[in-house]
Amino acid sequence: MPVKNRFSEMLPEITAWRRDFHEHPELLFDVHRTAARVADLLRSFGCDEVVTGIGRTGVVGVIKGKTDTSGRVVGLRADMDALPIIEQTGVDYASKTPGKMHACGHDGHTAMLLGAAKYLTETRNFDGTTVVIFQPAEEGGGGGREMCADGMMDRFGVQEVYGMHNMPGIPVGTFAIRPGAIMAAADQFDVVVTGKGGHAAKPHDCVDTTVVAAHIIVALQTIASRNVDPMKQVVVSVCTVETDSTAHNVIPQVVKLKGTVRTMDPTVQDFVERRISEIVEGTAMALGAKAVVQYNRGYPVTINAGENTDYAVEVAKAVSGKVDANTAPLMGAEDFSFMLNERPGAYIFLGNGDTAMVHHPAYNFDDDAIPFGSSWYAGMAEARMPAA
Ligand SMILES: [Zn+2]
Ligand SMILES: [Zn+2]
Repeated sequence: MPVKNRFSEMLPEITAWRRDFHEHPELLFDVHRTAARVADLLRSFGCDEVVTGIGRTGVVGVIKGKTDTSGRVVGLRADMDALPIIEQTGVDYASKTPGKMHACGHDGHTAMLLGAAKYLTETRNFDGTTVVIFQPAEEGGGGGREMCADGMMDRFGVQEVYGMHNMPGIPVGTFAIRPGAIMAAADQFDVVVTGKGGHAAKPHDCVDTTVVAAHIIVALQTIASRNVDPMKQVVVSVCTVETDSTAHNVIPQVVKLKGTVRTMDPTVQDFVERRISEIVEGTAMALGAKAVVQYNRGYPVTINAGENTDYAVEVAKAVSGKVDANTAPLMGAEDFSFMLNERPGAYIFLGNGDTAMVHHPAYNFDDDAIPFGSSWYAGMAEARMPAA
């Protein structure tokens, strides 16, 4: 089945928006230019309401259908922020700001949702209200959390919400989704090990923090290998080791470790948090040192509601016919999880073809995906609020 014809016609226009965003990447909440451009375009389409500054720099547009006998309100969400990466795509619309790059395709997501907003304001062929949500700071800043904390869901009466992300390795035009957990929870931990520093030739007069830290790093591997049910997913990675001496002949006084935890199940998440403290504190004590753990919860698990996943699959089938409805979950995390914790909905992947992976300096969003993505966004509104 084909994409909506209108999006094939609009492809040059949507592509131009996408490449303009690509040339002007902005980070985290500092998406002022992007948000202003999004708001201007939404107003030019004739959105019934355009509100800026939600969750600091988020933008929300309200589009009323021809009728509103259903009283339904469907939210559609895209992200606007880029990454601190030096671009290596070589395209003529490459980033004009060295060190900032749209390496996750949020330029494409924003452009596709703008395309859907333009189409929906033109046609209004639905019975209810569509709320288009453009969020800042998906890449670690919690922009989705901020928009929810700003009362977005209640303010606009959003009843269900849908999000999309492009995915390299999946053919363009193919969708992939699963019910339940589709992306992991991402937490961070910091460990500070304190011993007794001193001369490296006199270890017996010291409490060697590097040895303690090494034992802790190895012991933490037993959480995944020995503690958690092998049928449940968990990642515990120690990623940074920092000592307070860089000499060859000094036993440092303090060693700091930093790492990340990825889980798919809140009970596993609780368990891992507790277990990290037990292992770190117990190992340090056994070796005569002291250690403290700071554990910070980040993005929660992204959970697709069963019924809403079915709706998303139906629309994707109508758009392209190519849908993997039981794709494997990913251990990456997604800020859209905060919105899905507030309202039922679903998050779907759209193929980006055989490109570099997201977050790679050679990655680029494939504009051929635009008609599929815009059709899916618009299709979700039309399918969930059929015209009276
Ligand atoms: Zn990303
Ligand atoms: Zn992303």
